[in-house]
Amino acid sequence: MKKISLNTVDFRSDTVTKPDQNMLQSISLEGLGDDVYSEDQTTLRLEKMSANLCGFEFALFVPSGTCGNLISLLTHCKRGEQYLTGDSSHIFLYEQGGGSMFGSITPRPFHLKKDGTTDFKSLQNLIYPDDIHFAKTSLLCLESTYNGHPLPRNYLLEAINFCKKNQLKLHMDGARIFNATEYYNTSPKDYLSGIDSISFCLSKGLGAPIGSILCGNKNFIEEARRYRKALGAGMRQTGVLAYPGIYALENNIPRLKKDHELTHYFASKLMSFKELKIDLESVKTNMFFIHASEESLIPLSEKLKNHNILITKDNPIRIVVHKDISKEDIDRTINIFKEHFSGFP
Ligand SMILES: *Cc1c(COP(=O)(O)O)cnc(C)c1O
Repeated sequence: MKKISLNTVDFRSDTVTKPDQNMLQSISLEGLGDDVYSEDQTTLRLEKMSANLCGFEFALFVPSGTCGNLISLLTHCKRGEQYLTGDSSHIFLYEQGGGSMFGSITPRPFHLKKDGTTDFKSLQNLIYPDDIHFAKTSLLCLESTYNGHPLPRNYLLEAINFCKKNQLKLHMDGARIFNATEYYNTSPKDYLSGIDSISFCLSKGLGAPIGSILCGNKNFIEEARRYRKALGAGMRQTGVLAYPGIYALENNIPRLKKDHELTHYFASKLMSFKELKIDLESVKTNMFFIHASEESLIPLSEKLKNHNILITKDNPIRIVVHKDISKEDIDRTINIFKEHFSGFP
C-alpha cells in the first residue's frame, strides 16, 4: 500500500486535506439517526445551513461532487434531453458521462475559453429549434472556479438571461465555489442568485474528509433525494460526516484567502526561473499551472518526491494550495526548484 507520510507536502489537489483535531472533535453522537429516513439531525442542520448560505430553499448531502452533478443532471433533464456543458468542464470530461450512462441524456459540449467563459452568441447556435428531429435542450452547466478562474458575476447574469430566453435550467458545478466568492469578496447568496442549482464540495479547500452539497428549490431537492437513493448514495448515520461539514462551513471559508495569497506568492517566486512558464495574471485563487520542457519536469517531480513533496506528472503541472500547506512548505519547495534548475542549461 502507498504510504503518505504525515509531513508530506501535497500540491496535487485540495482534495488531499486531512481533518484537523478540532474538526474531528466536533463529531458527536448527538442527533445521530438514519438519514435515509431524514432522521439525522446534524445532516438536516448541515443541509439547512448550506441552503441558507447559498440562497436556496433546500439542500441535499451527497457523497461526492460527481454524485451531486449527476443527480442534478438527472433531476433537470428527462430521458432524451440534452444539456450544454463546456468542452473542458469537469462534468463533460471527468465524470464518465454519467448523464448518458444512467439517465439517457446527452451532453452538447461548447467551447470554453481559458477563463472558463464562453460566447453566448455562439452558444445560441447550439440550441436546436423546436422540431421533432432534434433533442430538446433543457440545461446549461457552468463551472466556477474553472482551473482556478472564478466566473465574474456579470458573466453569471448573462448566463441567467440566456437561460431565461431559451427556457433552460442553470446548474453551477461549484466544487470550489467559496474560492470564487472569496476572490470577489462577495456572499455566496449574492453570487449565486438566479441560478437553479449548485453542487459544492466540502472535501476540497474547506478541509472536510468526505461530502458535497447539492442545493435547489423544494421540488428539485425532493426529486434529487429520490435519485440519490436510486444511485445507492442514500447513507445512514451521516451525522459523523455532517459534523465536519458544518465545522468546515463555519470555520474554513475565510481562510481560503490565505490559500490564494500563498498561491500567488508561490507562482510569483517561480516566475524568476527562466525554464518555467507561468501566466501570473491568471493566478487568482488556489491553483496555477507550470509549463516547462518534458525533460526537466520528470526529474523535478522525482527530486521533489524524495523530499516528500508531491506534484502531478502532467505537463503543464497543476499546483494546488490548500490548508495543509504553509508558507514554510512553499519556501522549502522553492529551494528544491532552485537546486534542480541551477543544474539546467
Ligand atoms: C472535484 C470536482 C468535482 C467532483 O468532485 P468529487 O468529489 O471529486 O467527485 C466536480 N467539479 C469540479 C470542477 C471539481 O473540481
